[in-house]
Formats: sequence, structure tokens, C-alpha cells
Amino acid sequence: MRAMVLNKICNLKENKRPLELVNLPKPVPKEREILVKVSACGVCHTELDEIEGRTPPPRLPVVLGHQVVGRVEKCGGKAGKFKIGDRVGIAWIYSACGRCKFCLEGNENLCENFKATGRDANGGYAEYITVLEDFAFKIPDEFSDSEAAPLLCAGAIGYRSLRLTEIKDGQNLGLTGFGASAHLVIKMVRHKYPNSKVFVFARSEQERNFAKELGAIWVGDTQDKPPEKLDCVIDTTPVWKPVIEALKNLESGGRLVINAIRKEEIDKEYLLKLDYPTHLWHEKEIKSVANVGRRDVSEFLKLAAEIPIKPEVQEFSLKEANKALLELKERKIRGAKVLRID
Ligand SMILES: [Zn+2]
Ligand SMILES: [Zn+2]
Repeated sequence: MRAMVLNKICNLKENKRPLELVNLPKPVPKEREILVKVSACGVCHTELDEIEGRTPPPRLPVVLGHQVVGRVEKCGGKAGKFKIGDRVGIAWIYSACGRCKFCLEGNENLCENFKATGRDANGGYAEYITVLEDFAFKIPDEFSDSEAAPLLCAGAIGYRSLRLTEIKDGQNLGLTGFGASAHLVIKMVRHKYPNSKVFVFARSEQERNFAKELGAIWVGDTQDKPPEKLDCVIDTTPVWKPVIEALKNLESGGRLVINAIRKEEIDKEYLLKLDYPTHLWHEKEIKSVANVGRRDVSEFLKLAAEIPIKPEVQEFSLKEANKALLELKERKIRGAKVLRID
């Protein structure tokens, strides 16, 4: 099968073709696995982090890609959940141990043996992928393959972030940063919590305008003061300033959820501005969100079909994966980038 493989960590400024098109043996599904013929795979910022070595290192060589959509072509001997031809999706969560306390309580995203698709196991930048049937998700009919792919990452993680805020209908939500995940969060809030108001803090005018279009009641720059206190905040920025600034606006007993894989070091100085009475006193909480669980992916896919959320996509062929990644790096963003694999 054809696959785009990452052989070594590199800097995308120096190496504009980090992935190599190779021929790999077609994988064979184990007992509880399914073999999926991939039709679409989303291109995510996390792949840039993997290539440039900012996340926990991938096993190398590796096939990247964790927003995979395709059809079941073969089932392992003990796999009976799906039929041949069923359309499924595979997300960032590739597997977990299934036995530890986190797995047993449904937080398998925190499992010590959490394995990520396209990092710890081969992902979807290829014609085929195998996965445990319990870690594949049915894709609702409402979406085309390309539309479904980007929902599997930004959507699922946005959904988890929103879940962790424990927001109730009518409560105020703040969003610091307004990227792919935040766009989807605002749509979910408008649907699930119609009486809640959303306040968006973003640096660029363009993002602020977009937030207004999507129904934000107030938009401002990072350090602007909203007219009301916020019961919860979701931060999706790679820096500290928006977190510290948002804590000032957090209601007593409120919760701020950080949905970011990493925070830039340079901003640590800003952390020193953390002032206990202003930022934390009165039972304010800070919580981070890590990975996604299966519940997040399947519940989000259902919700997305119900709303409905249809992402705008820009398609590339498999061998254009390097081009798609570079455009993502250079922020040439016209909808979510998806590889079409025929
Ligand atoms: Zn992703
Ligand atoms: Zn576990």
C-alpha cells in the first residue's frame, strides 16, 4: 500500500518534504482488529508538532494522521462489531489498556498506556490502517468522508473541553483564542446551551469578526474586560497571557480549562504576574484537558450531525501531504485540510 512516512524529526523551515511516499505491506488485522481502507484523513497542527519534535516523540518511522475515515475491508477473527463496507472513523485515541482505574472510569485518555494514532501506531496518511474495533467509530450519514475527518480531532477535543467546564445552560462561557476547536465549541454551546452567552478573546480582528458571526455576544482583545463575569473559560492558545488575563474575569467558583498540548516557554514571565487574590482566590479552578476519550468522539459525532456542523474542507491527494502540512504551517488556512485517498 502507498503511505506517507515520517522517518526523522526535522525542522520544516529546512526540510520542506518531511514525509516520504513509500510502499508498505498492507497491514493484517489481529483478532479484535478491523482493516480499514482509508478514504480521507485530516491534516492537524499536532502533525507539525510531531514532525518538528515538540510532542512526545513518535515511534519512527511512522505514518502520521489521526482523523481517519474509511470503510471496513476485513475483520479479525474475534471482531464482530462492524460489517464489511461499514464506514468508520479513527481518532487520536488508538488504544488504551482497558484495565487501569482511568480506563475503568471512562477516562482512558489518561491511561498510562494511552496510544495515539499516527504517533504510537501507524495513522491515516496511507491506503490502509488497522485498529481495534472498540476504538473505531461509526460515522453519521450526514457527513461526506472529507467533512467527517476534521471533526474527529478538533471537534472531539473541543467537546471534551466543554464537558470539563461543567457549564450549565444560562452560564457565561469565555473562549480565549478562536481557532478550529473554538469555532466548533461556539456552535456546540449555541445548540446545547441556548441561554448561555459566549465571550471571545482573540488577538486578530478577523477572528473577532468571525466569532461575532458565529454568535459571540461580546468580542475583545486578550486583555479587554468583558461586561460580565465568566462562569467558565476555555483557553486554546499556546501562551500564558490569555490564561492570566481570563482568570481576572472568572466568576467566584468558576473554572478555566486549558485545551493546549503545550504552552510556549517564553511566556513564563507572564506567569509571574499571577496574583493570588486577583486570579485564584474565591475558589477559582484551573484544569487542563489531555487527549480524548472514546465517549468524547462518539458523543461529539452525534451532536455534530444533529446541529449540524459541516466543516469547510480543502482537499489534497495523498502525495500532496507535504504541501498540505506546509500550508498549515504558513497559516494558509481555507477550511480544514484533508487528504483524499483513492
Ligand atoms: Zn489533531
Ligand atoms: Zn488504562
